[in-house]
Amino acid sequence: SNPKYDKEKGVNVQVILRCRPLSDDETRVNTPVVISCNEHRREVSALQTIANKQIDRTFMFDKVFGPTSKQKDLFDQSISPIVNEVLEGYNCTIFAYGQTGTGKTYTMEGGGSRKIKNGEFPTDAGVIPRAVRLIFDILEAQCAEYSMKVTFLELYNEEITDLLAPDESKFSEDKSKKPIALMEDGKGGVFVRGLEEEVVYSAGEIYKILDKGSAKRRTAETLLNKQSSRSHSIFSITIHIKECTPEGEEMIKCGKLNLVDLAGSENISRSGARDGRAREAGEINKSLLTLGRVINALVEHSCHVPYRDSKLTRLLRDSLGGKTKTCIIATVSPSIHCLEETLSTLDYAHRAK
Ligand code: ADP
Ligand code: MG
Repeated sequence: SNPKYDKEKGVNVQVILRCRPLSDDETRVNTPVVISCNEHRREVSALQTIANKQIDRTFMFDKVFGPTSKQKDLFDQSISPIVNEVLEGYNCTIFAYGQTGTGKTYTMEGGGSRKIKNGEFPTDAGVIPRAVRLIFDILEAQCAEYSMKVTFLELYNEEITDLLAPDESKFSEDKSKKPIALMEDGKGGVFVRGLEEEVVYSAGEIYKILDKGSAKRRTAETLLNKQSSRSHSIFSITIHIKECTPEGEEMIKCGKLNLVDLAGSENISRSGARDGRAREAGEINKSLLTLGRVINALVEHSCHVPYRDSKLTRLLRDSLGGKTKTCIIATVSPSIHCLEETLSTLDYAHRAK
């Protein structure tokens, strides 16, 4: 029941809104809450006070998850259908979009606990570990012959860093800084030259890979004196499944799931970024703006989709548009202090619909 699904053109963009709870610190100082979520009606309202007048703005989404929503519910209701599409051979992409501190990484990777007990992930496990587990569960149940590999990269300032590459910084600082190249394959597609692919044999291995990637992200951060809030990370899962046609012919079905933790959407120019940092800000906005334009163009079936305008959209080109599914999880804070950013997130996400 997706209103944006067009069978003929195959465009399917779903927009989900998630509001995090107030943090303990925010609760302690009685931070006013200005966002209310009606999950049943799939509506989010923001209460704005302008010149002593209260204005209520309401936005509708494909799905709304309020502050008490559980990781499991978001996954089961909105992500597991997409995982099933991937196993049918589709390329799908899930984006987390929002201001820094609103729960993008929490939603994608999970909270702090990484302990797997009796083969079960912790309750705060995010979309990535749950997707990996579901893929294994389904394939095992089908007794399918398959292989699964993952890549994990970071895009910062239009430069790609491989988060799974062996750490070379001990030997040469230059090497670790060297960005890897995005190449055209001559058939309209792109690939990342030299990107490390990790074959995964069980869901349990996933935290090792996530931790390896985030450790690398932290090292790169210190080296370049930057913050991860300005970079996009892309975790991609590729699955090859061997199938037999009724005629007994062997066939390989291939599906891909991209899980993208976007850079913080906050308006960096407003916080006074200048010079080098302004360039940074510009590049990030370029990718975010281009992503918004690409999604708009796809939804509106316009003949020109500006994939080429940013590395993010070039990288994801084979998974955006055509026979693919896209899901945007927009994350917001309920606090009055974030209201301006929350409104711009609601606007951006709403426009993508
Ligand atoms: P972002 O990646 O958007 O900058 P984080 O995922 O790091 O934000 O979240 C900021 C803080 O809020 C973290 O401490 C995180 O654990 C907490 N948090 C975010 N979303 C939720 C949620 N839905 N429920 C509980 N805690 C959350
Ligand atoms: Mg984050």
